[in-house]
Amino acid sequence: MKIPKTIKKYKKRLIAYPKNTKEVSNIVKFSNKHGLNIIPLGGETNRVDGTKAVQKYKNLFISFSKMNKILEIDKDSLILTVESGVTLKKIHQKSQSKNLFFPVNIAPSDKCTIGGNISTNVGGLQTLRYGNIEDHINGLEVVMSDGTVLNYLSKLKKDNFGPKLWKIFCGSEGIFGIITKANLNLKPKKKFITTFFLEIKSLNKAILLFKELRHQFYDYLTSYEIIFPIPSSILLNKKSDFHLIVEIHSNEKNNFLKNLKNIFKKNLVEIIKIENNLKNSWIWKKREELVHIQKELNYNHKFDISLPLSQWKNFILKINKFTKKNTQFTSYFFGHLGDGNLHCNFKVENELKKDINILSEFIYDLTLSLNGSIAAEHGLGQKKNMLIKKYKSKEYYDFIKNLKNYLDPKKNLGANKLFKS
Ligand SMILES: Cc1cc2nc3c(=O)[nH]c(=O)nc-3n(C[C@H](O)[C@H](O)[C@H](O)COP(=O)(O)OP(=O)(O)OC[C@H]3O[C@@H](n4cnc5c(N)ncnc54)[C@H](O)[C@@H]3O)c2cc1C
Repeated sequence: MKIPKTIKKYKKRLIAYPKNTKEVSNIVKFSNKHGLNIIPLGGETNRVDGTKAVQKYKNLFISFSKMNKILEIDKDSLILTVESGVTLKKIHQKSQSKNLFFPVNIAPSDKCTIGGNISTNVGGLQTLRYGNIEDHINGLEVVMSDGTVLNYLSKLKKDNFGPKLWKIFCGSEGIFGIITKANLNLKPKKKFITTFFLEIKSLNKAILLFKELRHQFYDYLTSYEIIFPIPSSILLNKKSDFHLIVEIHSNEKNNFLKNLKNIFKKNLVEIIKIENNLKNSWIWKKREELVHIQKELNYNHKFDISLPLSQWKNFILKINKFTKKNTQFTSYFFGHLGDGNLHCNFKVENELKKDINILSEFIYDLTLSLNGSIAAEHGLGQKKNMLIKKYKSKEYYDFIKNLKNYLDPKKNLGANKLFKS
């Protein structure tokens, strides 16, 4: 086969570096003709083997490193138009330079790209207040599996001239189409950010405090993160209870501080640290350290769980009972309590396959019995591609498979992602 100039061979891997949408379309047409499996690459920070070569397939990776331009910032519509290879950090910097704000943030913002973020429907540290990334998109440009370019770009707030078909590309991990451009909704930047690092005795107290804060500061409460005692103790190098990171965004300086302090006092919360508008925040650095520690200490069996807030207490009671009886499992939990999503990680003594299976079955069954989700914000990729068939309804499985067959009849996009091809 005659390989187009945009595609390079690197250590036996085929990687394309398109500079524009037309080149993406040509690459897709070429793949279509030669039966290649396309794997788009953003910053490759996904946690579910979404950008890993698929065995027994001829894979073609598409890097968006040369499609990394901010095309327009429209201050009237509050819309930013970008190519899909732009990093999340660059989007934040550009928005801030115009006194605006893009309300989605995750730790690896300097590496991850907007194309990857949309394809995983990223949540993150401010989902509590602002929702997931799908809530901040106004339009997309997408290359379909036969190379057709669908231009769904739009700056209109109201447009029901047909349903918003671009929504199916949010969270579909590149199996329905390849995102090349996006319109993002921006917001005016709030002037003051106050971050608290707090210590609290129990999960129950943390939930009660959250409900009170949410009631009083709904529009301002942007993050409510929890760290359970085991990771807290390792992080702070001393025996610890639960810790919370609470962040308030507002336009009035210190207006809430007195009120907040009273609420913390009433709820027996110890204030460990308060930060104002800090660029190099000690508190958020500690939050990032949790992930590194988790890796270093082998808490590497990860469950990304969402539950209705009212069910977390029940879930943790059952987990504690389970780990007491099965001492080969040690938990390491932290996450976004305010939006109901915790990262439930475990160390498994001796790493026996039998034990790993017992643990997974237990967590999945328990989560689903409590009306939760077993893939809250990280998606499924190839790592969890058996879960839809096993745990979703037959109707859901048939629907997604039929949709895939319609959108990608030759099966060129993302083999084995979301479900087994
Ligand atoms: C330290 C750390 C913290 C994280 N925190 C969070 C968090 O708080 N919340 C959260 O939701 N997630 C979090 N994540 C995971 C998150 O999903 C990813 O980090 C991010 O969204 C992926 O962006 P990326 O550019 O790296 O995409 P990649 O990893 O490169 O790709 C992700 C998926 O999208 C596909 N893809 C990439 N670009 C395109 C495109 N242009 N068109 C179609 N498909 C495409 C890829 O093939 C792959 O399947 C975290 C990850 C890390 C490592």
